[in-house]
Amino acid sequence: MTYQSINPYDGKLLQSFDDLTEESLETKIATAAACFESWRQTTFAQRAAIAAKAAAIMRARADEFARPVTLEMGKRIAEARGEVALSADIIDYYAQNAERFLAPERLHPSSGEAEIESTPLGVLFGVQPWNFPYYQLARFAAPNLMAGNVVMVKHAGNVPQCAIAFEELWLEAGAPKGAYTNLLISHDQVNRVIDDPRIKGVALTGSVEAGKSVAARAGQNLKKSTMELGGSDAFIVLDDADLEKTVEWAVWAKMNNTGQCCVAGKRYIVVEELADRFLDKFRTALAKLEPGDPMDEATTLGPLSTEGALVNLLDQVDRAVGDGATVVMGGKRIDRPGSFMQPTILADIAPDSAAFREEFFGPVALFFRVKDEDEAVALANDSAFGLGGSVFTGDVARGKRVASRIDTGMMFVNHPTWTTPDLPFGGVKDSGYGRELSNMGIQEFVNKKLVRVE
Ligand code: NDP
Repeated sequence: MTYQSINPYDGKLLQSFDDLTEESLETKIATAAACFESWRQTTFAQRAAIAAKAAAIMRARADEFARPVTLEMGKRIAEARGEVALSADIIDYYAQNAERFLAPERLHPSSGEAEIESTPLGVLFGVQPWNFPYYQLARFAAPNLMAGNVVMVKHAGNVPQCAIAFEELWLEAGAPKGAYTNLLISHDQVNRVIDDPRIKGVALTGSVEAGKSVAARAGQNLKKSTMELGGSDAFIVLDDADLEKTVEWAVWAKMNNTGQCCVAGKRYIVVEELADRFLDKFRTALAKLEPGDPMDEATTLGPLSTEGALVNLLDQVDRAVGDGATVVMGGKRIDRPGSFMQPTILADIAPDSAAFREEFFGPVALFFRVKDEDEAVALANDSAFGLGGSVFTGDVARGKRVASRIDTGMMFVNHPTWTTPDLPFGGVKDSGYGRELSNMGIQEFVNKKLVRVE
């Protein structure tokens, strides 16, 4: 059985769900394909009314939407509510801006008239991860539905209640059956969906391994794809940074969502002048976090999403230590029920060890001490990943210069990497290709069609 809601706070099985049968899957694809034929004829205003209603429902019932997030993957309840609000903002953003983003674009050819139309492609298929169970869905569904496509989504195996809630949201908002379809399906069925000629594009957010598998399958079928994969973001601290503020952001960058963010601070790269003081303050702040029930507002440290995620992370830390890394703090599971991990800092990570190259998906910070700005840039770029990154400095112009030298899709000066509806999100290298959100996100799955008039 692929789909199980298990509360990582106490390990209790809440509910399990069967995978779709082949017949039900076929019915759903047929319904989506039929829906596209009418949905593509609707106006932006009609689609925007439905999207705006979906956003309003999420906001009005934020607690109800937040609850399954906390129960299924352990996100602290205040963060879960924040995610619901962000998802509603994304849906509203596209309701308000899609028509402008996709307006016909007048060209100026050497003779005659020409313009580019942006027309929908058809049924799109998204494969999504559990770490932001609504946000990931919102940033895939909202732009594409507003563009006139319809979407089918395979969500991660541990968040089926969130997956179902998001599908019900669109139906309640007035979307026709088949506009947004949740698919509880296995990995084999994912391949069959990608192969289906009625599917016109594929978007995945997840690990590099999943990305390679799904992108290869889409490629074999000559289908456009976008890949939002893992990251190992550098959090660079230069000698002129405001140490107090920087440490506050360092803790947020590491511990938001218990470190389970593709753009979490993963490699803390600090210049020599500040290294000892930074490390001392960072460790002191992390040590204050108190594990507890993520449903309890007072809890400052939630569990990891699943027992499997915890076991993998502990194994990664053990291997790193076996390869010579030093444990500055933490490194172990917390001795209590549930999938809790101690906030952890590792130092002395050798460039030839696996830990130097891997993504640590949880509350584990890798700490590096560097001589100067140039060494910080070189180290930040010595990674197979290229998602986000941040640089902290008292001199914004210097921060921008450093940002320009880092090979990632996103760089932030004096703030950890983060996301808003109006800024593009995505990476380069093993972090994938394509962009979500902003005007760029809605352009990924439309036909940019030339119409030329003599
Ligand atoms: P996974 O890649 O394991 O899972 C993501 C999704 O892909 C799930 O729905 C999963 O289904 C599915 N999946 C996994 N393998 C396959 C396969 N071979 N064929 C078909 N479907 C597959 O990712 P994690 O759960 O580990 O999520 C965390 C990862 O996602 C991290 O690497 C993180 O950095 C990345 N991420 C990237 C973001 C970005 O925007 N760049 C944002 C958030 C996360 P199932 O659960 O059933 O296995």
